[in-house]
Amino acid sequence: MIKRKNYFQSQKNKEKLRTCKKEYYQKNKENLIAYRKKYYQENKAKEKTYYKKYYQRKKDALRQYKMLYRQSPSGKKVMTKYKQKHKRQITLQRQQYRQSFQGKKVTKKYYQRFEVKMRHRIRQRNRKLLLSDLTIEIVQKVYEHNIKIFGTLTCIYCFKKLKFGEDSLEHIKPTSKGGKNIFSNLAVACFRCNNSKRDYSLKKWFS
Ligand SMILES: [Zn+2]
Repeated sequence: MIKRKNYFQSQKNKEKLRTCKKEYYQKNKENLIAYRKKYYQENKAKEKTYYKKYYQRKKDALRQYKMLYRQSPSGKKVMTKYKQKHKRQITLQRQQYRQSFQGKKVTKKYYQRFEVKMRHRIRQRNRKLLLSDLTIEIVQKVYEHNIKIFGTLTCIYCFKKLKFGEDSLEHIKPTSKGGKNIFSNLAVACFRCNNSKRDYSLKKWFS
Protein backbone atom coordinates (compact mmCIF):
# COMPACT_ATOMS: atom_id res chain seq x y z
CA MET A 1 0.00 0.00 0.00
CA ILE A 2 2.79 2.39 0.93
CA LYS A 3 4.73 1.43 -2.15
CA ARG A 4 1.74 2.10 -4.32
CA LYS A 5 1.24 5.52 -2.79
CA ASN A 6 4.85 6.40 -3.39
CA TYR A 7 4.59 5.23 -6.95
CA PHE A 8 1.72 7.63 -7.70
CA GLN A 9 3.26 10.56 -5.91
CA SER A 10 6.40 10.85 -8.03
CA GLN A 11 5.99 13.56 -10.65
CA LYS A 12 6.93 11.36 -13.58
CA ASN A 13 4.37 8.72 -12.73
CA LYS A 14 1.74 11.33 -12.06
CA GLU A 15 2.05 12.60 -15.62
CA LYS A 16 2.03 9.10 -16.97
CA LEU A 17 -1.16 8.37 -15.08
CA ARG A 18 -2.73 11.57 -16.34
CA THR A 19 -2.04 10.78 -19.97
CA CYS A 20 -3.31 7.23 -19.44
CA LYS A 21 -6.53 8.59 -17.96
CA LYS A 22 -6.93 11.04 -20.80
CA GLU A 23 -6.45 8.35 -23.42
CA TYR A 24 -8.94 6.11 -21.68
CA TYR A 25 -11.48 8.93 -21.53
CA GLN A 26 -11.05 9.82 -25.21
CA LYS A 27 -11.47 6.19 -26.21
CA ASN A 28 -14.59 5.57 -24.13
CA LYS A 29 -16.05 9.05 -24.18
CA GLU A 30 -19.55 8.22 -25.37
CA ASN A 31 -19.93 5.24 -23.11
CA LEU A 32 -18.74 7.16 -20.11
CA ILE A 33 -21.04 10.10 -20.76
CA ALA A 34 -24.02 7.81 -21.30
CA TYR A 35 -23.20 5.94 -18.11
CA ARG A 36 -22.93 9.18 -16.17
CA LYS A 37 -26.25 10.41 -17.53
CA LYS A 38 -27.98 7.17 -16.68
CA TYR A 39 -26.55 7.20 -13.18
CA TYR A 40 -27.71 10.79 -12.68
CA GLN A 41 -31.22 10.01 -13.87
CA GLU A 42 -31.48 7.05 -11.52
CA ASN A 43 -30.07 8.85 -8.48
CA LYS A 44 -31.35 12.36 -9.11
CA ALA A 45 -32.24 13.38 -5.57
CA LYS A 46 -29.08 11.95 -4.09
CA GLU A 47 -26.89 13.63 -6.69
CA LYS A 48 -28.60 16.96 -6.26
CA THR A 49 -28.08 17.06 -2.50
CA TYR A 50 -24.49 15.91 -2.99
CA TYR A 51 -23.74 18.73 -5.41
CA LYS A 52 -25.49 21.26 -3.23
CA LYS A 53 -23.32 20.25 -0.31
CA TYR A 54 -20.25 20.20 -2.52
CA TYR A 55 -20.99 23.69 -3.79
CA GLN A 56 -21.54 25.02 -0.28
CA ARG A 57 -18.27 23.52 0.86
CA LYS A 58 -16.21 24.83 -2.05
CA LYS A 59 -18.11 28.04 -2.74
CA ASP A 60 -15.21 30.50 -2.58
CA ALA A 61 -12.73 28.31 -4.40
CA LEU A 62 -15.20 27.63 -7.20
CA ARG A 63 -16.04 31.28 -7.60
CA GLN A 64 -12.38 32.15 -7.82
CA TYR A 65 -11.78 29.37 -10.30
CA LYS A 66 -14.62 30.64 -12.46
CA MET A 67 -13.21 34.16 -12.42
CA LEU A 68 -9.75 32.93 -13.37
CA TYR A 69 -11.21 30.90 -16.19
CA ARG A 70 -13.15 33.87 -17.55
CA GLN A 71 -9.98 35.95 -17.60
CA SER A 72 -8.01 33.29 -19.47
CA PRO A 73 -7.88 33.44 -23.29
CA SER A 74 -9.97 30.32 -23.83
CA GLY A 75 -12.48 31.47 -21.23
CA LYS A 76 -12.77 34.88 -22.89
CA LYS A 77 -13.45 33.23 -26.22
CA VAL A 78 -16.22 31.11 -24.75
CA MET A 79 -17.75 34.09 -22.96
CA THR A 80 -17.87 36.28 -26.07
CA LYS A 81 -19.43 33.45 -28.05
CA TYR A 82 -22.02 32.91 -25.31
CA LYS A 83 -22.79 36.61 -25.12
CA GLN A 84 -23.31 36.86 -28.88
CA LYS A 85 -25.60 33.86 -28.90
CA HIS A 86 -27.74 34.98 -25.94
CA LYS A 87 -27.62 38.74 -26.51
CA ARG A 88 -31.34 39.42 -26.21
CA GLN A 89 -31.81 37.21 -23.20
CA ILE A 90 -28.92 38.84 -21.37
CA THR A 91 -30.18 42.39 -21.95
CA LEU A 92 -33.66 41.36 -20.83
CA GLN A 93 -32.31 39.76 -17.69
CA ARG A 94 -30.23 42.83 -16.97
CA GLN A 95 -33.26 45.10 -17.37
CA GLN A 96 -35.30 42.95 -15.02
CA TYR A 97 -32.50 42.93 -12.47
CA ARG A 98 -32.16 46.71 -12.58
CA GLN A 99 -35.85 47.11 -11.88
CA SER A 100 -35.75 44.74 -8.90
CA PHE A 101 -35.20 46.06 -5.39
CA GLN A 102 -31.69 44.65 -5.05
CA GLY A 103 -30.74 45.82 -8.56
CA LYS A 104 -31.91 49.37 -7.86
CA LYS A 105 -29.78 49.45 -4.75
CA VAL A 106 -26.70 48.19 -6.53
CA THR A 107 -26.97 50.56 -9.52
CA LYS A 108 -27.49 53.52 -7.20
CA LYS A 109 -24.35 52.61 -5.29
CA TYR A 110 -22.46 52.16 -8.54
CA TYR A 111 -23.40 55.59 -9.84
CA GLN A 112 -22.56 57.22 -6.54
CA ARG A 113 -19.12 55.67 -6.65
CA PHE A 114 -18.75 56.69 -10.31
CA GLU A 115 -19.64 60.29 -9.50
CA VAL A 116 -17.08 60.43 -6.71
CA LYS A 117 -14.47 59.05 -9.06
CA MET A 118 -15.27 61.65 -11.74
CA ARG A 119 -15.19 64.48 -9.23
CA HIS A 120 -11.83 63.28 -8.02
CA ARG A 121 -10.51 63.11 -11.56
CA ILE A 122 -11.65 66.66 -12.37
CA ARG A 123 -10.09 67.96 -9.18
CA GLN A 124 -6.84 66.23 -10.01
CA ARG A 125 -6.86 67.68 -13.52
CA ASN A 126 -7.50 71.17 -12.20
CA ARG A 127 -4.68 70.82 -9.71
CA LYS A 128 -2.35 69.69 -12.47
CA LEU A 129 -3.34 72.74 -14.51
CA LEU A 130 -2.72 75.07 -11.61
CA LEU A 131 0.61 73.48 -10.87
CA SER A 132 1.76 73.92 -14.45
CA ASP A 133 2.43 77.28 -16.04
CA LEU A 134 -0.85 78.95 -15.05
CA THR A 135 -0.18 81.90 -12.78
CA ILE A 136 -2.49 83.94 -10.57
CA GLU A 137 -1.64 87.04 -12.59
CA ILE A 138 -3.04 85.46 -15.76
CA VAL A 139 -6.23 84.35 -13.99
CA GLN A 140 -6.69 87.82 -12.54
CA LYS A 141 -6.21 89.37 -15.96
CA VAL A 142 -8.81 87.04 -17.50
CA TYR A 143 -11.39 87.89 -14.81
CA GLU A 144 -10.71 91.62 -15.02
CA HIS A 145 -10.99 91.51 -18.79
CA ASN A 146 -14.34 89.72 -18.51
CA ILE A 147 -15.71 92.32 -16.08
CA LYS A 148 -14.40 95.15 -18.26
CA ILE A 149 -16.36 93.83 -21.27
CA PHE A 150 -19.62 92.75 -19.62
CA GLY A 151 -19.81 95.00 -16.57
CA THR A 152 -20.10 92.03 -14.20
CA LEU A 153 -18.67 88.54 -14.28
CA THR A 154 -20.48 86.83 -17.18
CA CYS A 155 -20.34 83.45 -18.92
CA ILE A 156 -18.89 83.92 -22.38
CA TYR A 157 -21.11 81.18 -23.85
CA CYS A 158 -24.59 81.75 -22.43
CA PHE A 159 -24.04 85.35 -21.18
CA LYS A 160 -25.44 84.47 -17.77
CA LYS A 161 -24.39 86.86 -15.02
CA LEU A 162 -22.34 84.83 -12.58
CA LYS A 163 -22.39 84.94 -8.80
CA PHE A 164 -19.35 84.08 -6.77
CA GLY A 165 -18.75 80.31 -6.95
CA GLU A 166 -20.63 79.83 -10.22
CA ASP A 167 -17.65 80.81 -12.34
CA SER A 168 -14.98 78.55 -13.74
CA LEU A 169 -11.89 79.07 -15.80
CA GLU A 170 -12.47 77.93 -19.35
CA HIS A 171 -9.89 76.90 -21.93
CA ILE A 172 -11.14 77.97 -25.36
CA LYS A 173 -8.87 75.38 -26.94
CA PRO A 174 -8.91 72.42 -24.53
CA THR A 175 -5.69 71.48 -22.81
CA SER A 176 -6.15 67.94 -24.03
CA LYS A 177 -5.94 69.31 -27.59
CA GLY A 178 -2.80 71.31 -26.81
CA GLY A 179 -4.47 74.51 -25.57
CA LYS A 180 -2.17 76.60 -23.44
CA ASN A 181 -2.54 78.44 -20.16
CA ILE A 182 -2.20 81.83 -21.80
CA PHE A 183 -4.45 84.88 -21.62
CA SER A 184 -5.74 84.57 -25.20
CA ASN A 185 -6.84 80.98 -24.59
CA LEU A 186 -8.64 81.60 -21.31
CA ALA A 187 -12.10 82.88 -20.47
CA VAL A 188 -14.75 82.76 -17.76
CA ALA A 189 -17.68 80.34 -18.15
CA CYS A 190 -20.42 79.00 -15.93
CA PHE A 191 -20.13 75.41 -14.70
CA ARG A 192 -22.88 74.20 -17.00
CA CYS A 193 -21.26 75.50 -20.17
CA ASN A 194 -17.83 74.40 -19.07
CA ASN A 195 -19.12 70.89 -18.40
CA SER A 196 -21.19 70.57 -21.56
CA LYS A 197 -18.31 71.72 -23.72
CA ARG A 198 -15.83 69.31 -22.17
CA ASP A 199 -13.11 68.56 -24.67
CA TYR A 200 -14.75 69.92 -27.79
CA SER A 201 -13.25 72.87 -29.54
CA LEU A 202 -15.27 76.06 -29.81
CA LYS A 203 -16.27 75.49 -33.44
CA LYS A 204 -17.49 71.95 -32.83
CA TRP A 205 -19.47 72.97 -29.75
CA PHE A 206 -21.40 75.71 -31.52
CA SER A 207 -22.23 73.59 -34.55
ZN1 LIG B 1 -22.79 79.46 -19.47
